[in-house]
Amino acid sequence: MIHCDAPGLTPVTEALEHILSSVQPVTQKESIALRDACGRILANDVISPVQVPPQDNSAMDGYAVCPADTDRYQLVGTALAGHPFAGVVQPGQAVRIMTGAPLPVGATTVAMQENAQVEGDVVTFSTLKDGDNIRRAGEDIALKSVVLTAGRRLTPSDCGLLASIGVSDIQVHRPIRAALLTTGDELVEPGRPLADGEIYESNSFVLLPVLQKLGAEVRNSSRVADDLETIKAELSRAASWADIIITCGGVSVGDADYTRLAVESLGDLSLWKLAMKPGKPLAFGQVGESLFLGLPGNPVSSLVTLHQIGLPVLRTLAGESVRLPLRIPAKAASLLRKRPGRTDFQRGVASLSAEGELVVESAGQQGSGILSSVSRANCFIVLEQERGRVEAGEQVMIEMFDQWLL
Ligand code: AMP
Ligand code: MG
Repeated sequence: MIHCDAPGLTPVTEALEHILSSVQPVTQKESIALRDACGRILANDVISPVQVPPQDNSAMDGYAVCPADTDRYQLVGTALAGHPFAGVVQPGQAVRIMTGAPLPVGATTVAMQENAQVEGDVVTFSTLKDGDNIRRAGEDIALKSVVLTAGRRLTPSDCGLLASIGVSDIQVHRPIRAALLTTGDELVEPGRPLADGEIYESNSFVLLPVLQKLGAEVRNSSRVADDLETIKAELSRAASWADIIITCGGVSVGDADYTRLAVESLGDLSLWKLAMKPGKPLAFGQVGESLFLGLPGNPVSSLVTLHQIGLPVLRTLAGESVRLPLRIPAKAASLLRKRPGRTDFQRGVASLSAEGELVVESAGQQGSGILSSVSRANCFIVLEQERGRVEAGEQVMIEMFDQWLL
Protein backbone atom coordinates (compact mmCIF):
# COMPACT_ATOMS: atom_id res chain seq x y z
CA MET A 1 0.00 0.00 0.00
CA ILE A 2 1.31 3.41 -0.96
CA HIS A 3 0.00 6.50 0.77
CA CYS A 4 0.44 9.61 -1.30
CA ASP A 5 -1.68 11.76 0.94
CA ALA A 6 1.10 13.33 2.94
CA PRO A 7 2.48 15.85 2.93
CA GLY A 8 0.32 18.20 0.90
CA LEU A 9 -1.59 17.80 -2.26
CA THR A 10 -0.62 16.22 -5.58
CA PRO A 11 -1.13 18.28 -8.76
CA VAL A 12 -3.77 16.74 -11.02
CA THR A 13 -1.45 16.24 -14.01
CA GLU A 14 1.16 14.52 -11.86
CA ALA A 15 -1.39 12.13 -10.33
CA LEU A 16 -2.86 11.37 -13.74
CA GLU A 17 0.53 10.61 -15.25
CA HIS A 18 1.34 8.30 -12.35
CA ILE A 19 -2.01 6.53 -12.51
CA LEU A 20 -1.95 6.11 -16.30
CA SER A 21 1.49 4.52 -16.14
CA SER A 22 -0.10 1.49 -14.45
CA VAL A 23 -3.02 1.10 -16.88
CA GLN A 24 -2.55 -1.60 -19.52
CA PRO A 25 -5.08 -1.62 -22.40
CA VAL A 26 -7.25 -4.71 -22.80
CA THR A 27 -5.49 -6.98 -25.27
CA GLN A 28 -8.38 -9.04 -26.64
CA LYS A 29 -9.57 -7.99 -30.07
CA GLU A 30 -12.66 -8.82 -32.04
CA SER A 31 -13.67 -8.50 -35.65
CA ILE A 32 -16.92 -6.65 -36.22
CA ALA A 33 -18.96 -5.38 -39.15
CA LEU A 34 -18.18 -1.81 -40.18
CA ARG A 35 -21.85 -0.97 -39.68
CA ASP A 36 -21.41 -1.65 -35.93
CA ALA A 37 -18.00 0.00 -35.59
CA CYS A 38 -18.80 3.60 -34.73
CA GLY A 39 -17.48 4.43 -31.25
CA ARG A 40 -15.28 1.33 -31.07
CA ILE A 41 -11.50 1.47 -30.67
CA LEU A 42 -9.44 0.45 -33.66
CA ALA A 43 -7.04 -2.37 -32.75
CA ASN A 44 -4.69 -2.11 -35.78
CA ASP A 45 -3.56 0.52 -38.27
CA VAL A 46 -5.68 0.42 -41.42
CA ILE A 47 -3.75 0.48 -44.70
CA SER A 48 -5.70 1.25 -47.84
CA PRO A 49 -5.92 -1.59 -50.37
CA VAL A 50 -7.14 0.86 -53.03
CA GLN A 51 -6.74 4.45 -54.10
CA VAL A 52 -9.61 6.89 -53.69
CA PRO A 53 -10.99 7.98 -56.04
CA PRO A 54 -10.11 4.90 -58.09
CA GLN A 55 -9.77 6.90 -61.32
CA ASP A 56 -9.77 10.50 -62.55
CA ASN A 57 -13.37 11.68 -62.62
CA SER A 58 -15.43 14.76 -63.13
CA ALA A 59 -16.06 17.22 -60.30
CA MET A 60 -18.85 18.93 -62.27
CA ASP A 61 -21.76 18.38 -64.58
CA GLY A 62 -20.48 19.58 -67.96
CA TYR A 63 -18.31 18.44 -70.85
CA ALA A 64 -15.10 16.40 -70.88
CA VAL A 65 -12.93 17.87 -73.61
CA CYS A 66 -9.81 17.10 -75.59
CA PRO A 67 -8.73 20.69 -76.38
CA ALA A 68 -7.73 21.59 -79.94
CA ASP A 69 -7.24 24.73 -82.02
CA THR A 70 -10.98 25.19 -82.61
CA ASP A 71 -14.04 26.98 -81.16
CA ARG A 72 -16.51 24.29 -82.19
CA TYR A 73 -16.27 20.92 -80.48
CA GLN A 74 -18.04 17.83 -81.73
CA LEU A 75 -20.20 16.07 -79.13
CA VAL A 76 -19.44 12.34 -79.40
CA GLY A 77 -21.09 10.69 -76.40
CA THR A 78 -22.07 10.66 -72.73
CA ALA A 79 -20.35 9.63 -69.47
CA LEU A 80 -22.49 9.13 -66.35
CA ALA A 81 -21.45 8.04 -62.83
CA GLY A 82 -21.39 4.25 -63.14
CA HIS A 83 -21.60 4.41 -66.96
CA PRO A 84 -18.23 5.45 -68.42
CA PHE A 85 -17.75 6.60 -72.01
CA ALA A 86 -16.23 3.60 -73.78
CA GLY A 87 -14.38 5.36 -76.60
CA VAL A 88 -11.39 7.67 -76.86
CA VAL A 89 -11.96 11.44 -77.07
CA GLN A 90 -10.00 12.90 -80.01
CA PRO A 91 -8.70 16.51 -80.23
CA GLY A 92 -11.68 18.76 -81.01
CA GLN A 93 -14.19 16.38 -79.44
CA ALA A 94 -16.25 16.60 -76.23
CA VAL A 95 -18.30 14.16 -74.16
CA ARG A 96 -21.30 15.15 -72.04
CA ILE A 97 -20.22 14.21 -68.48
CA MET A 98 -21.89 14.14 -65.07
CA THR A 99 -20.31 14.59 -61.62
CA GLY A 100 -18.46 11.45 -60.53
CA ALA A 101 -18.29 9.90 -64.00
CA PRO A 102 -14.83 8.61 -64.95
CA LEU A 103 -12.89 11.01 -67.17
CA PRO A 104 -12.91 9.49 -70.69
CA VAL A 105 -9.57 8.50 -72.21
CA GLY A 106 -8.22 11.44 -74.23
CA ALA A 107 -10.08 14.17 -72.29
CA THR A 108 -7.82 16.50 -70.31
CA THR A 109 -10.31 19.00 -68.93
CA VAL A 110 -13.92 19.36 -67.88
CA ALA A 111 -15.87 22.48 -68.80
CA MET A 112 -18.78 23.42 -66.55
CA GLN A 113 -22.10 23.24 -68.34
CA GLU A 114 -22.72 26.87 -67.32
CA ASN A 115 -19.81 27.80 -69.65
CA ALA A 116 -21.04 25.73 -72.60
CA GLN A 117 -23.47 26.46 -75.45
CA VAL A 118 -24.85 23.50 -77.35
CA GLU A 119 -26.30 23.46 -80.86
CA GLY A 120 -27.16 19.98 -82.09
CA ASP A 121 -23.97 17.95 -81.80
CA VAL A 122 -21.71 21.01 -81.65
CA VAL A 123 -20.65 22.63 -78.39
CA THR A 124 -18.73 25.87 -77.82
CA PHE A 125 -17.12 27.03 -74.58
CA SER A 126 -16.73 30.53 -73.16
CA THR A 127 -13.67 29.35 -71.19
CA LEU A 128 -11.63 26.18 -71.39
CA LYS A 129 -8.59 25.53 -69.20
CA ASP A 130 -6.61 22.30 -69.22
CA GLY A 131 -6.94 20.21 -66.04
CA ASP A 132 -10.03 22.02 -64.70
CA ASN A 133 -12.78 20.31 -62.70
CA ILE A 134 -11.09 16.93 -62.50
CA ARG A 135 -10.83 14.93 -59.29
CA ARG A 136 -7.57 13.05 -59.61
CA ALA A 137 -7.18 9.33 -58.88
CA GLY A 138 -5.82 8.87 -55.35
CA GLU A 139 -6.19 12.54 -54.36
CA ASP A 140 -8.17 11.55 -51.24
CA ILE A 141 -6.33 8.34 -50.31
CA ALA A 142 -3.19 6.93 -51.90
CA LEU A 143 -2.79 3.18 -52.40
CA LYS A 144 -1.16 1.51 -49.33
CA SER A 145 -1.31 4.68 -47.26
CA VAL A 146 -2.16 4.51 -43.54
CA VAL A 147 -5.74 5.71 -43.33
CA LEU A 148 -6.35 5.40 -39.58
CA THR A 149 -4.08 4.39 -36.74
CA ALA A 150 -4.62 1.89 -33.93
CA GLY A 151 -6.12 3.40 -30.79
CA ARG A 152 -8.58 5.62 -32.58
CA ARG A 153 -12.18 5.80 -31.38
CA LEU A 154 -14.06 5.54 -34.66
CA THR A 155 -16.22 8.52 -35.55
CA PRO A 156 -19.00 8.51 -38.15
CA SER A 157 -16.63 10.11 -40.70
CA ASP A 158 -13.98 7.45 -39.95
CA CYS A 159 -16.58 4.77 -40.73
CA GLY A 160 -17.34 6.55 -44.01
CA LEU A 161 -13.62 6.69 -44.77
CA LEU A 162 -13.26 2.95 -44.12
CA ALA A 163 -16.25 2.23 -46.34
CA SER A 164 -14.67 4.37 -49.08
CA ILE A 165 -11.68 2.01 -49.20
CA GLY A 166 -13.91 -1.06 -49.30
CA VAL A 167 -13.46 -2.26 -45.71
CA SER A 168 -16.45 -4.32 -44.51
CA ASP A 169 -15.11 -5.77 -41.24
CA ILE A 170 -12.69 -4.29 -38.77
CA GLN A 171 -10.56 -5.36 -35.79
CA VAL A 172 -11.40 -3.50 -32.60
CA HIS A 173 -10.59 -3.91 -28.91
CA ARG A 174 -13.21 -5.78 -26.97
CA PRO A 175 -15.40 -3.53 -24.81
CA ILE A 176 -14.09 -2.95 -21.30
CA ARG A 177 -16.04 -4.36 -18.36
CA ALA A 178 -16.73 -1.82 -15.65
CA ALA A 179 -18.34 -2.52 -12.28
CA LEU A 180 -19.86 0.49 -10.56
CA LEU A 181 -20.49 0.50 -6.81
CA THR A 182 -22.11 3.31 -4.92
CA THR A 183 -21.86 3.10 -1.16
CA GLY A 184 -23.70 4.89 1.62
CA ASP A 185 -26.38 4.02 4.18
CA GLU A 186 -27.98 7.41 3.56
CA LEU A 187 -28.68 6.72 -0.10
CA VAL A 188 -32.18 5.98 -1.38
CA GLU A 189 -33.27 4.93 -4.86
CA PRO A 190 -35.20 7.77 -6.58
CA GLY A 191 -38.93 7.03 -6.54
CA ARG A 192 -39.06 6.07 -2.87
CA PRO A 193 -39.88 8.38 0.03
CA LEU A 194 -36.99 9.78 2.06
CA ALA A 195 -36.71 9.10 5.80
CA ASP A 196 -34.87 11.47 8.13
CA GLY A 197 -31.18 11.76 7.18
CA GLU A 198 -31.60 10.10 3.80
CA ILE A 199 -30.82 11.54 0.36
CA TYR A 200 -31.43 10.26 -3.12
CA GLU A 201 -28.63 8.34 -4.77
CA SER A 202 -27.68 10.43 -7.82
CA ASN A 203 -24.06 9.67 -8.69
CA SER A 204 -24.81 6.45 -10.55
CA PHE A 205 -27.19 8.44 -12.75
CA VAL A 206 -24.22 10.53 -13.84
CA LEU A 207 -21.61 7.79 -14.01
CA LEU A 208 -23.59 5.07 -15.79
CA PRO A 209 -24.44 7.09 -18.92
CA VAL A 210 -20.79 8.14 -19.21
CA LEU A 211 -19.69 4.50 -18.99
CA GLN A 212 -22.32 3.55 -21.54
CA LYS A 213 -21.16 6.30 -23.90
CA LEU A 214 -17.67 4.87 -23.58
CA GLY A 215 -19.04 1.56 -24.85
CA ALA A 216 -18.25 -0.27 -21.61
CA GLU A 217 -20.19 -3.32 -20.44
CA VAL A 218 -21.43 -2.24 -17.05
CA ARG A 219 -22.63 -3.95 -13.89
CA ASN A 220 -24.07 -1.59 -11.35
CA SER A 221 -24.49 -2.14 -7.61
CA SER A 222 -26.26 0.88 -6.21
CA ARG A 223 -26.45 1.81 -2.56
CA VAL A 224 -24.12 -0.80 -1.05
CA ALA A 225 -24.36 -0.58 2.73
CA ASP A 226 -21.62 1.10 4.80
CA ASP A 227 -20.38 -2.19 6.17
CA LEU A 228 -16.84 -3.49 5.72
CA GLU A 229 -17.78 -7.14 5.04
CA THR A 230 -20.57 -6.21 2.63
CA ILE A 231 -18.28 -3.92 0.65
CA LYS A 232 -15.51 -6.54 0.62
CA ALA A 233 -17.94 -9.15 -0.71
CA GLU A 234 -19.18 -6.76 -3.43
CA LEU A 235 -15.64 -5.85 -4.43
CA SER A 236 -14.56 -9.52 -4.63
CA ARG A 237 -17.59 -10.36 -6.75
CA ALA A 238 -16.90 -7.40 -9.06
CA ALA A 239 -13.20 -8.26 -9.33
CA SER A 240 -14.00 -11.73 -10.71
CA TRP A 241 -15.57 -10.10 -13.78
CA ALA A 242 -14.52 -6.49 -14.25
CA ASP A 243 -11.49 -4.87 -15.87
CA ILE A 244 -12.10 -1.91 -13.61
CA ILE A 245 -14.14 -1.32 -10.46
CA ILE A 246 -15.36 2.22 -9.91
CA THR A 247 -16.78 3.28 -6.59
CA CYS A 248 -17.99 6.58 -5.34
CA GLY A 249 -17.98 7.62 -1.75
CA GLY A 250 -16.16 6.11 1.19
CA VAL A 251 -12.62 7.03 0.20
CA SER A 252 -11.94 9.95 2.49
CA VAL A 253 -10.93 9.58 6.11
CA GLY A 254 -14.36 9.64 7.76
CA ASP A 255 -15.51 6.99 10.23
CA ALA A 256 -17.74 5.22 7.69
CA ASP A 257 -15.26 5.28 4.79
CA TYR A 258 -15.16 1.50 4.44
CA THR A 259 -14.38 1.36 0.73
CA ARG A 260 -10.82 2.42 1.37
CA LEU A 261 -10.42 -0.14 4.18
CA ALA A 262 -11.98 -2.90 2.04
CA VAL A 263 -9.64 -2.28 -0.90
CA GLU A 264 -6.65 -2.05 1.40
CA SER A 265 -7.47 -5.47 2.84
CA LEU A 266 -8.19 -7.11 -0.54
CA GLY A 267 -5.56 -5.54 -2.78
CA ASP A 268 -3.44 -2.46 -3.31
CA LEU A 269 -4.48 1.10 -2.86
CA SER A 270 -2.91 4.48 -3.44
CA LEU A 271 -4.78 7.27 -1.80
CA TRP A 272 -4.36 10.62 -3.45
CA LYS A 273 -5.21 14.01 -2.15
CA LEU A 274 -5.48 15.83 -5.41
CA ALA A 275 -4.78 19.52 -5.66
CA MET A 276 -8.12 20.00 -7.38
CA LYS A 277 -11.40 21.53 -6.44
CA PRO A 278 -13.87 20.01 -6.35
CA GLY A 279 -12.71 16.45 -5.83
CA LYS A 280 -9.83 16.17 -3.39
CA PRO A 281 -9.85 12.50 -2.34
CA LEU A 282 -9.16 9.89 -5.01
CA ALA A 283 -8.21 6.26 -4.59
CA PHE A 284 -6.55 4.14 -7.24
CA GLY A 285 -5.37 0.59 -7.00
CA GLN A 286 -6.08 -3.03 -7.75
CA VAL A 287 -8.43 -5.71 -6.47
CA GLY A 288 -7.40 -9.11 -7.84
CA GLU A 289 -6.99 -8.61 -11.60
CA SER A 290 -9.22 -5.53 -11.67
CA LEU A 291 -8.15 -1.94 -11.53
CA PHE A 292 -9.81 0.05 -8.80
CA LEU A 293 -10.84 3.68 -9.05
CA GLY A 294 -12.43 5.26 -6.00
CA LEU A 295 -14.14 8.55 -6.81
CA PRO A 296 -15.24 11.00 -4.14
CA GLY A 297 -18.87 10.83 -3.03
CA ASN A 298 -19.91 14.45 -3.40
CA PRO A 299 -21.84 14.62 -6.66
CA VAL A 300 -19.88 17.41 -8.37
CA SER A 301 -16.55 16.06 -7.10
CA SER A 302 -17.41 12.65 -8.44
CA LEU A 303 -18.34 14.06 -11.86
CA VAL A 304 -15.30 16.31 -12.17
CA THR A 305 -12.91 13.59 -11.01
CA LEU A 306 -14.47 11.13 -13.41
CA HIS A 307 -13.99 13.63 -16.22
CA GLN A 308 -10.43 14.66 -15.41
CA ILE A 309 -8.98 11.36 -14.17
CA GLY A 310 -11.52 8.57 -14.73
CA LEU A 311 -12.05 9.15 -18.44
CA PRO A 312 -8.35 9.07 -19.38
CA VAL A 313 -8.01 5.88 -17.29
CA LEU A 314 -11.06 4.20 -18.83
CA ARG A 315 -10.17 5.23 -22.36
CA THR A 316 -6.57 4.05 -22.00
CA LEU A 317 -7.84 0.76 -20.59
CA ALA A 318 -10.12 0.46 -23.63
CA GLY A 319 -7.10 0.77 -25.95
CA GLU A 320 -7.74 4.34 -27.00
CA SER A 321 -4.93 6.83 -27.62
CA VAL A 322 -6.10 9.64 -25.42
CA ARG A 323 -5.63 13.30 -26.11
CA LEU A 324 -6.41 15.56 -23.20
CA PRO A 325 -9.26 18.03 -23.62
CA LEU A 326 -8.53 21.28 -25.42
CA ARG A 327 -8.29 24.34 -23.19
CA ILE A 328 -8.97 27.71 -24.74
CA PRO A 329 -8.61 31.26 -23.43
CA ALA A 330 -11.69 33.30 -22.56
CA LYS A 331 -12.38 36.52 -20.71
CA ALA A 332 -13.96 36.31 -17.26
CA ALA A 333 -17.23 38.25 -17.42
CA SER A 334 -17.47 38.52 -13.64
CA LEU A 335 -15.43 37.99 -10.51
CA LEU A 336 -14.50 34.34 -9.79
CA ARG A 337 -13.75 33.48 -6.20
CA LYS A 338 -10.69 31.28 -5.68
CA ARG A 339 -7.95 30.63 -3.18
CA PRO A 340 -4.43 29.57 -4.22
CA GLY A 341 -3.47 25.93 -3.57
CA ARG A 342 -5.66 23.79 -5.81
CA THR A 343 -6.64 23.77 -9.49
CA ASP A 344 -10.29 24.79 -9.67
CA PHE A 345 -12.64 23.27 -12.18
CA GLN A 346 -15.40 25.82 -11.79
CA ARG A 347 -18.57 25.37 -13.75
CA GLY A 348 -19.08 28.16 -16.27
CA VAL A 349 -21.24 29.40 -19.09
CA ALA A 350 -19.24 30.46 -22.14
CA SER A 351 -20.64 32.60 -24.93
CA LEU A 352 -19.65 35.14 -27.55
CA SER A 353 -20.09 38.76 -26.54
CA ALA A 354 -21.68 41.32 -28.87
CA GLU A 355 -18.09 42.27 -29.83
CA GLY A 356 -17.41 38.68 -30.88
CA GLU A 357 -15.18 37.92 -27.88
CA LEU A 358 -15.30 34.59 -26.04
CA VAL A 359 -16.46 35.35 -22.50
CA VAL A 360 -17.28 33.11 -19.57
CA GLU A 361 -19.27 33.60 -16.40
CA SER A 362 -19.83 31.45 -13.37
CA ALA A 363 -22.72 28.98 -13.72
CA GLY A 364 -23.74 29.65 -10.13
CA GLN A 365 -22.90 28.20 -6.73
CA GLN A 366 -19.65 26.25 -6.85
CA GLY A 367 -20.10 23.86 -3.90
CA SER A 368 -19.11 20.21 -4.44
CA GLY A 369 -22.70 19.11 -3.91
CA ILE A 370 -24.38 21.64 -6.23
CA LEU A 371 -25.32 19.64 -9.32
CA SER A 372 -27.68 22.34 -10.56
CA SER A 373 -24.74 24.56 -11.58
CA VAL A 374 -23.27 21.71 -13.61
CA SER A 375 -26.54 21.36 -15.48
CA ARG A 376 -26.55 25.10 -16.18
CA ALA A 377 -22.91 25.10 -17.29
CA ASN A 378 -21.43 24.42 -20.71
CA CYS A 379 -17.77 24.47 -19.71
CA PHE A 380 -15.21 24.13 -16.94
CA ILE A 381 -13.31 27.27 -16.02
CA VAL A 382 -9.89 25.83 -15.20
CA LEU A 383 -8.14 28.11 -12.72
CA GLU A 384 -4.47 27.32 -12.15
CA GLN A 385 -3.33 25.91 -8.80
CA GLU A 386 -1.46 28.99 -7.60
CA ARG A 387 -3.98 31.51 -8.83
CA GLY A 388 -6.09 33.57 -6.46
CA ARG A 389 -9.39 35.25 -7.16
CA VAL A 390 -10.05 36.35 -10.70
CA GLU A 391 -11.34 39.85 -11.43
CA ALA A 392 -13.81 40.53 -14.22
CA GLY A 393 -11.89 41.10 -17.46
CA GLU A 394 -8.98 38.76 -16.67
CA GLN A 395 -8.16 35.92 -19.04
CA VAL A 396 -8.94 32.38 -17.92
CA MET A 397 -8.71 28.98 -19.59
CA ILE A 398 -11.89 27.07 -20.27
CA GLU A 399 -12.64 23.52 -21.31
CA MET A 400 -15.92 23.23 -23.20
CA PHE A 401 -17.99 20.25 -22.03
CA ASP A 402 -17.21 17.45 -24.43
CA GLN A 403 -19.20 14.50 -25.74
CA TRP A 404 -18.86 12.65 -22.43
CA LEU A 405 -20.72 15.28 -20.43
CA LEU A 406 -23.28 16.40 -22.98
P1 AMP B 1 -18.55 10.07 1.29
O1 AMP B 1 -17.32 10.25 0.48
O2 AMP B 1 -19.09 8.68 1.22
O3 AMP B 1 -18.36 10.54 2.68
O4 AMP B 1 -19.65 11.00 0.62
C1 AMP B 1 -19.50 12.40 0.56
C2 AMP B 1 -20.85 13.07 0.31
O5 AMP B 1 -21.36 12.65 -0.94
C3 AMP B 1 -21.91 12.72 1.34
O6 AMP B 1 -22.68 13.87 1.55
C4 AMP B 1 -22.72 11.65 0.67
O7 AMP B 1 -24.05 11.59 1.15
C5 AMP B 1 -22.67 12.09 -0.77
N1 AMP B 1 -22.79 10.94 -1.67
C6 AMP B 1 -22.01 9.84 -1.65
N2 AMP B 1 -22.38 8.96 -2.59
C7 AMP B 1 -23.44 9.53 -3.24
C8 AMP B 1 -24.29 9.11 -4.30
N3 AMP B 1 -24.09 7.94 -4.91
N4 AMP B 1 -25.28 9.94 -4.70
C9 AMP B 1 -25.47 11.15 -4.07
N5 AMP B 1 -24.70 11.59 -3.08
C10 AMP B 1 -23.70 10.80 -2.63
MG1 MG C 1 -20.34 7.57 2.30
